[in-house]
Amino acid sequence: MRNRLATKLLFELSQPDREGSRLPACDVPEQNIEDMLPTSAFATSPPELPELSEPDVVRHYTNLSTLNMSVDTHFYPLGSCTMKYNPKRNERLAALPGFSELHPFQPEETIQGMLQLLHELQQMLAEISGLPAVSLQPAAGAHGELTALMVAAAYFRDNNQRRTKVLAPDSAHGTNPASAAMAGFETIAIKSLPSGYVDMRDLHNKLDDQVGVLMITNPNTLGLFESEIGQIVNAVHERGGLVYLDGANMNAILGMTRPGDFGADMMHFNPHKTFSGPHGGGGPGAGPICVVDFLQPYLPVPNVVHDQDLYRLDFDRPKSIGQVRSFFGNVGVLVRAYAYIRTHGPDGLKQVAQNAVLNANYVLSRVRHILPVPQGNRCMHEFVATASQLKNDKGISAMDIAKRLLDFGFHAPTVYFPTTVAESMMIEPTETESRTTLDAFAETLFRITDEPSELLHEAPHSTWISRPNEVQAARHPVTRWKPAG
Ligand SMILES: *Cc1c(COP(=O)(O)O)cnc(C)c1O
Repeated sequence: MRNRLATKLLFELSQPDREGSRLPACDVPEQNIEDMLPTSAFATSPPELPELSEPDVVRHYTNLSTLNMSVDTHFYPLGSCTMKYNPKRNERLAALPGFSELHPFQPEETIQGMLQLLHELQQMLAEISGLPAVSLQPAAGAHGELTALMVAAAYFRDNNQRRTKVLAPDSAHGTNPASAAMAGFETIAIKSLPSGYVDMRDLHNKLDDQVGVLMITNPNTLGLFESEIGQIVNAVHERGGLVYLDGANMNAILGMTRPGDFGADMMHFNPHKTFSGPHGGGGPGAGPICVVDFLQPYLPVPNVVHDQDLYRLDFDRPKSIGQVRSFFGNVGVLVRAYAYIRTHGPDGLKQVAQNAVLNANYVLSRVRHILPVPQGNRCMHEFVATASQLKNDKGISAMDIAKRLLDFGFHAPTVYFPTTVAESMMIEPTETESRTTLDAFAETLFRITDEPSELLHEAPHSTWISRPNEVQAARHPVTRWKPAG
């Protein structure tokens, strides 16, 4: 189980003069480098790089990769993250040289295929969202939030409106208030009712003419579809504000309803979640945004347009907020999203949502007697259970269960988020899991919660690192190796 080979750093494995390459003799006249560059540009000593053979390096990384959990190796019910299986077909298509070997500075005539793909993806996302204007540029969901809020700010400025506030429910993802702050807004939290829905009274109390945007996740972070979304949207619009839909939970509603139809003015997609792009470990992702037509002039440049049989990048948008990322975005992720959407088609996407919701409800109904779900008998694509009762009765926390699951080959659910539920465990199975896997997961939860609590407090027992100090890791991350002494 524990893989000792993976625990040394390349620097520690290094041996003086060990080499991993054999270069042919130089067959062109050698130039004197000092004639070409000023001596001040020279390093005084060679860089201290590890000296290793190719097998050393291959074994190091291959062994290191076995310490990880991934959707290819384990069930990964990490709530809010939509860790669905990443079809290998998408990888093959994204790796085609015509996509993967393009240079972003190539003339447009030579990248017509890529531009056509991006243009069609814009149209498909407009159709799925019910919002006609699309920018593929943002690099992740959080970046999409920031970009859309910058678009909103530009719109208010252009219309001489001073709106300084963003409202977001207290169950919102942490990126919502962070994006609002970065875009220069003050964030005000809207309370949730004990039922998990937005507290309409609190919303009305906090809505005024200074509110620029309400950010809302629907279905929300508790896996509930905000049934009063119509009234929520109307209340914001009546005060002249805009509604932003955090689209991270689109897996629950693909093809069933559209944010544009329930009144959102702006949204982002997370193609790496909803459209099966591989993610984790910080990237790569993408965060395309879709907006209503009156916000289109403010979208980032360039946009992909199609005229006279040619696809081209349009920079001619005087009111645009400008470029938010280099070139036209993280195209590798967008090609995978395109392949996924085209593979499923409209009926297939609807089935994705239906099966995601079915799987989540199946797990919910199997585990709720040991892990109660305070907000509802039914859920959308995910649900938030609580270990509070287990904690009181047996001293078993959500963290203990999460850690112990690793010993049984299951990635942990999201724990302690949202903070509105005590000892929360947010479980999102996704549609790509079989009933066999869901049953095995449920039965493992039964077994774990029956184990002696001491065994759980020390879990995981099978991983190389058991319980790192997570607070210290977040506050004082050591991200760089330094030689001893
Ligand atoms: C994942 C997520 C985000 C942020 O998206 P990234 O692509 O990770 O930047 C925002 N809101 C919710 C609800 C999410 O689950």
